[in-house]
Amino acid sequence: MQEYDHKAIEARWQEHWDTNRSFSVTEDPSKEKYYLLEMFPYPSGRIHMGHVRNYTIGDALARFKMMKGYNVLHPIGWDSFGMPAENAAIQHKSHPAKWTFENIDTMRTQLKRLGLSYDWSREVATCKPDYYKWNQWCFLKFHERGLVYRKNSTVNWCESCQTVLANEQVIDDRCWRCDNVVIKKEQEGWFFKITEYADRLLEGCRELEGGWPEQVLAMQSNWIGKSFGAEVDFAVKGAKETIRIFTTRPDTLWGATFMVLAPEHPLTKKLSRGTEQEQAVDDFIKKVQSQDTIARTAEGGDKLGVFTGAYAMNPVNGESIPVWSANFVLMDYGTGAIMSVPAHDQRDFEFAQKYDLNIRVVIEPPDGTRDPDHLKEAFTEEGPMIQSGGFDGLVGEEARLKVCEYLKTKGIGERTINYRLRDWGVSRQRYWGTPVPMVFCDACGTVPVPYDQLPVELPLDAQLGERGQSPLKTLDSFINTTCPKCNGAAKRETDTLDTFICSSWYFDRYTSPQADDAPFQKKAVDYWMPVDQYIGGIEHAILHLLYSRFFHHVFRDLGLVQSNEPFSHLLTQGMVIKDGAKMSKSKGNVVDPDRIIERYGADTARLFILFAAPPVKDLEWSDQGVEGCSRFLKRVWRLFAELSDSVQGVEPGNGGDALPDELKELRRQTHVTIKRVTEDVEKRMQFNTAIAATMEFINHLYTFKDWWNAQKNASPEHKAVLRQAVESLILVLSPFAPHIAEEMASRLKFSKATHECAWPVFEAQHMQADEMTIVVQVNGKVRQKLSVPSEIADDDLKQQCLGDERVREWLNGKEPRKVIVVPKKLVNIVV
Ligand SMILES: [Zn+2]
Ligand SMILES: [Zn+2]
Repeated sequence: MQEYDHKAIEARWQEHWDTNRSFSVTEDPSKEKYYLLEMFPYPSGRIHMGHVRNYTIGDALARFKMMKGYNVLHPIGWDSFGMPAENAAIQHKSHPAKWTFENIDTMRTQLKRLGLSYDWSREVATCKPDYYKWNQWCFLKFHERGLVYRKNSTVNWCESCQTVLANEQVIDDRCWRCDNVVIKKEQEGWFFKITEYADRLLEGCRELEGGWPEQVLAMQSNWIGKSFGAEVDFAVKGAKETIRIFTTRPDTLWGATFMVLAPEHPLTKKLSRGTEQEQAVDDFIKKVQSQDTIARTAEGGDKLGVFTGAYAMNPVNGESIPVWSANFVLMDYGTGAIMSVPAHDQRDFEFAQKYDLNIRVVIEPPDGTRDPDHLKEAFTEEGPMIQSGGFDGLVGEEARLKVCEYLKTKGIGERTINYRLRDWGVSRQRYWGTPVPMVFCDACGTVPVPYDQLPVELPLDAQLGERGQSPLKTLDSFINTTCPKCNGAAKRETDTLDTFICSSWYFDRYTSPQADDAPFQKKAVDYWMPVDQYIGGIEHAILHLLYSRFFHHVFRDLGLVQSNEPFSHLLTQGMVIKDGAKMSKSKGNVVDPDRIIERYGADTARLFILFAAPPVKDLEWSDQGVEGCSRFLKRVWRLFAELSDSVQGVEPGNGGDALPDELKELRRQTHVTIKRVTEDVEKRMQFNTAIAATMEFINHLYTFKDWWNAQKNASPEHKAVLRQAVESLILVLSPFAPHIAEEMASRLKFSKATHECAWPVFEAQHMQADEMTIVVQVNGKVRQKLSVPSEIADDDLKQQCLGDERVREWLNGKEPRKVIVVPKKLVNIVV
């Protein structure tokens, strides 16, 4: 038999899988379904090692589940709208569509070279009209349900990307995509009312416990940020107005020693009229207008304020307190007005110190400080209320509830719920996206495009502006249309939709990608959804997953899907690290997957990726590790070459009871290996230890081979045991290194492809280990000899020794100080 030729072997099986559509599936009610999904890629040009890791983990699991008898849906597609395509097109004076489809072709070829078990007949690309038509359909459905609205708002604007960003896309004041500083701008745009689903998305987090990483669920909950608080009315002295404030700490109401209005609050100007502060307030408002929100609210940012000249009355103690305006209070959070409790809020504390305002302690710190002069910073923790009338002594949530009840009976306030989550701004001023299906008519206003006129196609003859300005805004053939209501002249919306909409339901589309009268077929989506295992990077822990969950909840309300949540299990794989940093072009530490596949083969690449670290941990790239995996596969191949003749045409079997020790041990090793691989994959998704088990098995087979080759006439029973060992090796190896496994299986004339074979079953009766004799010493003197299983764990061995009757006699009731185990030899008990 020839040398291990990975190129020939891999090419042969990839072509075989392709022409036979080996991984195509249909709904089969007689089989249990398993929907395995990896986050679909953006077609950026070429696949990188992070992709390889994501897809290899998914593929190993998909193949394992197929062999376990599941009907496995394992699809792939392209998240193909978005900005890099535009930037590349500008750079190369080409068109985003051309760039995108060329990249898809390249990357599809690369993925096929990895031997991934995708059902390629389900491939989708979100930039194609047959896909984005349904983005528009969703937009209109959501609109019908009152979940879409248009408003003027201060938006996050990235000057370099020339687009609006959702709050979620601003990370540390910077654009999530290009890292430029984000500025604020007034802009009209479309919003999805995700806040209406805040509570359901929170409840859903509880349902997902156990299936999702705790960390991801915590990130989702924090993002939604539900908090209880109170709204309280403060009357303005000598005026009719009241100022309504929102606070999360109604238990500190007695410590409110001043109030602060947002500069944009209508009362700020109004209250200062006719006071000597009038000019100062006007100047202040002008000054703050030039500051952006991020600078205004930044922790440690410069806190600027001005006295409005007016006083309000603290409704719980009747005290007269000054009303200020300050840059750090924003109009769009709560009510745009706050009560300031400097003793118990750090920002208020700093402001009070700066402007010499009154401070009063109303929550007792553990050290009993009541004198505000002794406070070095605000005390923001929970504690008993003090100097708070009849409420003294109450603590925390109970205190807040009691205060809220009091406010309600007095008619001066009520308990409220506030969320950190904001509605999802979905308008983008970009070209390469889904056109918003809306038209503006002078007579009828904003009119939705009727369903039967979808898709509103993105014109492909448009040329991008030099700085990425959307050509839709000046393309008359696109803009000018007729109003669906009155047939008069109307203008199309030129905004496109956030590409996160494309990725919020693609997993539903995969269930029936050819559906042309609905986004997906009910029968298909009911059979396949929810996704049983979703795999992707932690960087998508908030946005993509939250939006997808939101879509799914709305779909459920629309009667389109049945399950509560779209993804029952989530695995967030670690990064691929080289020389101490994540692989990236800018760091120059990238290893090109193609180079590794070319030199060593896809099976080696896959094996290394799975063997080098458990999926959730970061993986440190190692050239020696790759070499090691390559050597291992060559070893497998040589072993197979030597043994395959002996087992050709033999039925596998257990060989009965009368086997030589060597064959009994081989049989035992076979079953132990099956057990280890099965449990590592199924219970823990630890491919690294599973692969380690197959490596140990190979080592054993090499030892065994020498004995086997020395035998003159092997009986059929003996051959059956060896056949079983070799078959099991091929099958347990196949999820990790499918090409070499398939090649060996075909040479042994398996009747089915490996992924169609049943996963091998381990049998406990064949796993019993041989016995060995252990010497037991007490204080260095031999006192007993015990017969124990040769694979016994150290702890079990200790327990067995200490429990032995003769040993106990020698111990004579004394507690052992130390128990020393010399593996496979002796145990010394020191008393
Ligand atoms: Zn940007
Ligand atoms: Zn009209």
